[in-house]
Amino acid sequence: MTRRLRLAIPNKGRLVDPTLTLLRDAGLVFEAGEGALVARVQNFDLDILFVRTNDVTEFVNDGVAELGVTGLDLVAEAGSEVPQLRKLGYGRCRLTIAVPNDSPFRAAEDLAGLRVATSHVNLTRRFFERRSIPVRVVPVSGAAEVAPRLGLAEAIVDLVSTGSTMVVNGLRPIEEVFESEAVLLANAAAQKVHGPVFDSIQTMLSATLAARDRKYLMMNAPKTRLAEFEDLLPGLESPSVIPLAHEGMIAIHSVVEADAVWSLLPRLKAAGASGILILPIEKLVL
Ligand code: AMP
Repeated sequence: MTRRLRLAIPNKGRLVDPTLTLLRDAGLVFEAGEGALVARVQNFDLDILFVRTNDVTEFVNDGVAELGVTGLDLVAEAGSEVPQLRKLGYGRCRLTIAVPNDSPFRAAEDLAGLRVATSHVNLTRRFFERRSIPVRVVPVSGAAEVAPRLGLAEAIVDLVSTGSTMVVNGLRPIEEVFESEAVLLANAAAQKVHGPVFDSIQTMLSATLAARDRKYLMMNAPKTRLAEFEDLLPGLESPSVIPLAHEGMIAIHSVVEADAVWSLLPRLKAAGASGILILPIEKLVL
């Protein structure tokens, strides 16, 4: 008997909550108790394995899990060729070279002959080698931001999202090495065998992510101004237009980018829209 498919996801750290939320929003039903190693998905032929963020790539590569979620930076750091099914839109960060505020360094070239502390040793080495800048990479397992203060290195290469950790530690970014976000990985051999199941998991996740970025807008409007509304609401295709009982009035339905809604509203009102409804979308299959 073949065993259930396995999806490896982080058991600790900043990717845990957004990953669990995505899986649940996608409709998977499972219980993930504190410290659980595995959770059985009740409504899909899938087990979720909770592993260290750092181990996900290797687990998927080796076939311990058929699918996995981790940071793209860790996949690149491992130098893994494991297939990436799609980026997931969260866990966004940049691997960045930073130096103490009061240092004279302005660019990567200024670090020639100096020490760079990082937990992303391979990505850092590759970056400086490609630029032919000789540096000594000092491996640290975490908290690279304290390395300059400890006298371990003149610069660091570390992940930054808001930049506040760097500011607190008196560091300033000088150059970007790598851009990362969470990514869905697949085992190459399993991808061949389980193509249709992988496709449905991917569709489920993609439909959930696409829905998050968009809203469903409904409004009433004077029929004579339809062209103006069509310009304002490019939507997915053209807006749906439905005649109303009142002569000369129509209802317009459209899918719009969530970020655009607030700037759109005054313009819709100015064009004569009334009774505007903004609705969440549960899933959107593009
Ligand atoms: P963890 O160390 O388990 O919290 O997760 C680390 C992973 O989260 C990294 O490998 C990145 O892919 C991702 N991440 C997103 N933003 C940041 C950030 N500001 N600092 C560190 N990791 C981040």
